[in-house]
Amino acid sequence: MGILDVVPAGVVTGKNLTKLYDYCQEHNFAIPAVNITSSSTVNACLEAARDSNSPIILQVSHGGSAYFAGKGVKNDKDQASIIGAVAAAHHIRTVASTYGVPVVIHSDHCAKKLLGWFDGMLDADEAYFKIHGEPLFSSHMIDLSADDKDYNIQTTAKYMARMAKINCLLEMEIGLTGGEEDGVNNEDVDNSALYTQPEDVYDVYKALSPIGNMFHIAAAFGNVHGVYKPGNVKLQPILLKHFQEYVQKQIGSTSNKPLYLVFHGGSGSTKEEVKEAVSYGVVKMNIDTDTQFAYLAGVRDYVLNKSGYLKTQVGNPDGDDLPNKKYYDPRVWVREGEKTLIARVIEANKDLGCINTL
Ligand SMILES: [Zn+2]
Repeated sequence: MGILDVVPAGVVTGKNLTKLYDYCQEHNFAIPAVNITSSSTVNACLEAARDSNSPIILQVSHGGSAYFAGKGVKNDKDQASIIGAVAAAHHIRTVASTYGVPVVIHSDHCAKKLLGWFDGMLDADEAYFKIHGEPLFSSHMIDLSADDKDYNIQTTAKYMARMAKINCLLEMEIGLTGGEEDGVNNEDVDNSALYTQPEDVYDVYKALSPIGNMFHIAAAFGNVHGVYKPGNVKLQPILLKHFQEYVQKQIGSTSNKPLYLVFHGGSGSTKEEVKEAVSYGVVKMNIDTDTQFAYLAGVRDYVLNKSGYLKTQVGNPDGDDLPNKKYYDPRVWVREGEKTLIARVIEANKDLGCINTL
């Protein structure tokens, strides 16, 4: 018995999505959510999932979406981010089932100033739902954690009500993830904001659970975007256990994992920290910084090792008349980055217990 006995291969939405996350919690593992920016990074992640016999979450950030549409496209009204996110989702939908793994299409942090992007993606979801009976994306993240708590929760609930009509899952953030990602900088915020209180998590649960169960909570437990030298913010996975216990007690649940939790800033965490977080009901761990670095590594090493073959179209260390086309073809050197990215995603699958779960 594996995941494919519970949900089909290809893009997973609606009830299948909650079945997938329930399965994760029952079997004590989480799925990596990798930020993708191109068809190359999408395909590499799908290949990694296929080769490790795992499901995968592919997510686009606001900036990553714009990049998918092309850096030359204007983005003053979020148009590049909307079109790029939709293009990425369609690319994933076209190729996903070929790889034989369940795939979740997700969008990453959306702050207040980017809600135009969020609305544009939801418009695309609603149009897709009219034709196909499911949303284009499996889920989206709204992130109003930098705003007033009541505004955060109320606005999140409003969006969840809209998304519930098309069976699209909503991830929200309460408390702040530290560090810097995609132009949002929380490097200088007060330390206490980097640790969410159990009462705040329960306030989110109270507001969202009457709408349905299709929501994820990214609560802060000292997690940080990016990789830095050790500082004074310490990762405290035990807080995740406290959140679950507090909500369980308040609602009188028999489950010790009443919440679907998300781990942001997975890059740079130790394997023990990841394992502990997963044991408390984390179903999704975001990994971006480490996979960015992995994608570079293959390209970097290739260029450094093959430099004598890359300076001119003809002529290399083996002979002045020899052509270099097979060295500078992008399918050769971009592929080297894909290989090192694949290896890093497979490593994440191992860390999260996600390997061989299909
Ligand atoms: Zn994040």
